[in-house]
Parts: sequence; C-alpha cells; structure tokens
Amino acid sequence: MEENTVGRFAPSPSGRMHLGNVFCALMAWLAARAEGGRMLLRVEDLDQERCPRKYADLLEEDLLWLGLSWEEGGSRGGRHGPYYQSERTAVYQSCLEQLQGMGLVYPCFCSRAELHAAQAPHLSDGRVLYSGRCRRLTPEERAALAAQRRPAIRLMVPEETVAFTDLCYGEYRENLQQECGDFLIRRSDGVFAYQLAVTADDALMGVTQVVRGRDLLSSTPRQLYLYRLLGLRPPVFGHIPLLLAPDGRRLSKRDGDLDLGALRLRFTPEQLLGKLAFAGGLLEREEPVTAEELIPLFSWEKLPRQDIRLPAGLWG
Ligand code: GLU
Repeated sequence: MEENTVGRFAPSPSGRMHLGNVFCALMAWLAARAEGGRMLLRVEDLDQERCPRKYADLLEEDLLWLGLSWEEGGSRGGRHGPYYQSERTAVYQSCLEQLQGMGLVYPCFCSRAELHAAQAPHLSDGRVLYSGRCRRLTPEERAALAAQRRPAIRLMVPEETVAFTDLCYGEYRENLQQECGDFLIRRSDGVFAYQLAVTADDALMGVTQVVRGRDLLSSTPRQLYLYRLLGLRPPVFGHIPLLLAPDGRRLSKRDGDLDLGALRLRFTPEQLLGKLAFAGGLLEREEPVTAEELIPLFSWEKLPRQDIRLPAGLWG
C-alpha cells in the first residue's frame, strides 16, 4: 500500500456540478482512498468570469453531501495555498519566466479566426494543430505585430514522442510536433492556459495521482513535457471513461436534470453513489452505498474502458 498518495479534485466550477463531474470526483476520491491517500481540492477558476465563487462554494457543499471529503484546499486552505487558480497568477508567471529563460516560448499574434482558417490539420479532438506561423516571424515582423495586438504565448515543442502508462488505458503516446503542436502557455487576454496552470499546481501542491476524464488523456503528453522542462516530478495519471447521455451525447451543463441541484431533490447520496458505482463496474447490482463502503471495492481493472452510456429512464 502506497502511504503517501495525494489525489485531487480539480473542478472548473462554471455551474452546478453535474453527474459527469460527480463520477469523476468519486473515482478520484476512491483511487486515492484505496491507497490510504489524502485528497486535495483545487478550484480551476482561471476563467473567473465563467467560474464565480458561488459555484465553488456550492461544489464544496455538494462534495460533502456526497461524503467525498478532502484534507486540504478549497475554502479549507492548507500549506500549499492558495487553492484557487485565479489567485495563483504569480506562480504561473514564474513558470513562464523559467520557460522564457530557456528560450522556448514565443509570442503568437494569430487570432482565433486565423487559426481556424489556416490549412492546418485538425486533430481527432477537433483542435487545430498550430502551424508554427508565429514561431518563424522575424524580429521586425514581431515588433510590427506587437504594436497592433497583444500576443498570446506559445511553447515550442520538439519532434519527440512522449509516452506514459495510464492507470486505466495503459500505454499512451503522442508525438509532440505532429499531434500536439506548439501550445498555449498564456492567452492573449493575459490568462494563463490550463496546461501550464495544471502542471505547476499539481506539482507544487504535491499531488502524486491525477484521476480525471479521458477527454484529458491527450493533454497529458503536453503536461509531461512541461514537467520535464520545469524540473518538476510528475504524478501518475489515471483517465476514466466519460458518462454519456442515453443517446450517446456527452453530458453537459444543458442536462440540467442531471445537475446536483436537481438530483439532490430526488435521491439520497447513497442512492446516487450506488448508481454511479454500478455504472462504473464497482457494484454488481445497483444498491445504495456510502462512499466509504466503496473504498475496498475500487480497482482500476473493474472500470470499463468504453465510455458509459446511461440507460434511458435510469434517472427517471
Ligand atoms: N479543471 C478541469 C475540468 O474541470 C480538470 C482538469 C484536470 O483534472 O486536470 O475539466
């Protein structure tokens, strides 16, 4: 048993928690607790307009209602605080300066429209592979553009494949240049990008195990590259299948009947956890269960690799 496991919840509370977030929080919590580990809550509110504090507060209340406790972070604070990304700009700035010192970042003046209009390959998740246009600007061209627009900042990636072993999906690899492209470190509005913030925070907060949706699997090679550049020790990663609506769509904030405001009126925490644990393969039949009772039942082998389609009517 690993004694020093530190897992985390890292939600971006742009609304009330929905079932997909609960599934992810439950699995992250179980994976850490099954190793006797601690949990930390970091609020990913980089986009402050979309993530007002009231949702972060509600999220804490929802986690506690579910019985998903944490020892550090959120409004509880702790020795690695602050735990709200909106308050950690100085940390990200110092990471950026480290990368600047290595000569690995450059300003990018491309607008969103230009990025999409470029004949660049689109990746499987819909992202556009950045053409590297602004990497090749001359100092004069850079100065001329800088007088007109505030640039974003990108990190140059080498022609290199980054591989790691995911706790759920096994071996995963991506070629940084061909599959990721030079990626954003800071947006043109000055907000630091997710990839940099999450890497700096997980490392500096002492997180050893990252459990999150498999939609972020393809972010991990970029993050591992950042860990290396910044001289930080990476955690282990476990990506989990996504919950889908009965028609196969990804759950979203539009599915208001599946947010915790609505679900808490209809179910007890034990009923809800029982449904999710059954969907996640931890229970053989659907029955009410507490989060604590699920700890000994958790194992990575039981989790399905396919996304989980919620049966129609299950929640009705
Ligand atoms: N804040 C991200 C989200 O809510 C998750 C980031 C992560 O787990 O790395 O989608």
